[in-house]
Amino acid sequence: MSHPDYYKLLGLSRNASDEDIKKAYRKLARKYHPDLNPGNKDAEARFKEVSVAHDVLSDPEKRRNFDQFGDPAGPQAFPGGAPPGGFQGFSFEDLFSGFGGGGRSGPERGEDLQHTLRVGFRDAFQGTRVTLAIQRTETCRLCHGSGEGPGPKGACSTCQGRGHLERGLGFFKSRQPCPQCQGSGRSAPPCPDCQGRGRNPSTDNVTVAIPAGVEDGTRLRVAGKGEAGRRGGGPGDLFLHIQVEPHPRFERRGANLYVKLPITFTEAALGAKVEVPTPEGQSTIKIPPGTQGGSKLRLKGQGMPVAKSTQRGDLIAEVQVVTPEIRDERSKELLRELASLNPEDPRDKVWR
Ligand SMILES: [Zn+2]
Ligand SMILES: [Zn+2]
Repeated sequence: MSHPDYYKLLGLSRNASDEDIKKAYRKLARKYHPDLNPGNKDAEARFKEVSVAHDVLSDPEKRRNFDQFGDPAGPQAFPGGAPPGGFQGFSFEDLFSGFGGGGRSGPERGEDLQHTLRVGFRDAFQGTRVTLAIQRTETCRLCHGSGEGPGPKGACSTCQGRGHLERGLGFFKSRQPCPQCQGSGRSAPPCPDCQGRGRNPSTDNVTVAIPAGVEDGTRLRVAGKGEAGRRGGGPGDLFLHIQVEPHPRFERRGANLYVKLPITFTEAALGAKVEVPTPEGQSTIKIPPGTQGGSKLRLKGQGMPVAKSTQRGDLIAEVQVVTPEIRDERSKELLRELASLNPEDPRDKVWR
């Protein structure tokens, strides 16, 4: 089976990009769409051709096969067979969305953007500033967002000046205002810079202050850094969802930090002063005589800062009493002697 030159059908060269293919297809499909050309058999045939061309060229495998073998199905194509797969074209609405406003005429605020931002423990403790390259859209500088290009307004090419479109067939035929000219029947040519969309892709470097004490799950709003608005609408906002990386040593609960504090049997019994790590280095903590395993010792104000305040949480040391492993006879003797001097039964306190 011989295939038409799909590139020629879309008016493209062989090295056209995916974006070129999409644009060329949208343009031709708008021109030949059956809804816009009721009863026009030529337009219907052309619409089918460009749909097939787009179907082939937008599929990387079919396109490769076509480039290499002249057949989208590849070298072992069935004689007389059609290219596999159905049309994967755009719907009527897709063809007009983002073109001249898609039928809605009022100003429309831009969409919000959402990003996840991972913050290290240290940065969450101290606060930091980060600069992010944000892919967004900005209002077209050439047409100031109207989507209209220079030149006089002529009869709208979408509705041929009628101001409305007819959709459906026979009994189910319905009329709707033309989305391109919004019913006026006249329209300017699309802006050459934004192809009528009114906004262009841009990359913005956005600097964000991360407050000291920021918590996992915090949502920071950067006003006006979402997508550009349409037809004079304001831009959307950028939302940053903060993920704070955990620390291997400190467990964070709100503004308090928990740290495990292993102490010896002797330190627990007699009391001691020991070093404990803090987010800033270390501090000395006093272990009172007779401290039990599981006790919580608190260092006030040595936890995380509370975001947007001057307060700080506490550092809480959770005591773990480490039982010594006694191997030598002399130590065993001493422990037995110690036990006989202190004949208390800890189970007494719990059970009686
Ligand atoms: Zn129109
Ligand atoms: Zn423009």
